[in-house]
Amino acid sequence: MISKKLKKGKTYHCSQSIDGPLMNWTEEEWEENCQWMLDHNNEKFKSGRDLKRVFLDEAFKGHRVVPVDGCDNFDYHQGCLGHDKR
Ligand SMILES: [Zn+2]
Repeated sequence: MISKKLKKGKTYHCSQSIDGPLMNWTEEEWEENCQWMLDHNNEKFKSGRDLKRVFLDEAFKGHRVVPVDGCDNFDYHQGCLGHDKR
């Protein structure tokens, strides 16, 4: 679990843990989830294997979470650091 203090008046993006999927997801789940997750260029993954390769890469870099939607204030250990509400 990722715990952090959420500040009032800020919005946060969702983040996805890296180790959970690598430990738990089945082949079918990788295939399913590659259809809604986007890569760093906001493009769809071609296959579940492609998605898994990215997760392995991130884990190798020591990262713990990845953004699931566009976030420009992201910490790879804590997730989204928050944005001022507009
Ligand atoms: Zn964010």
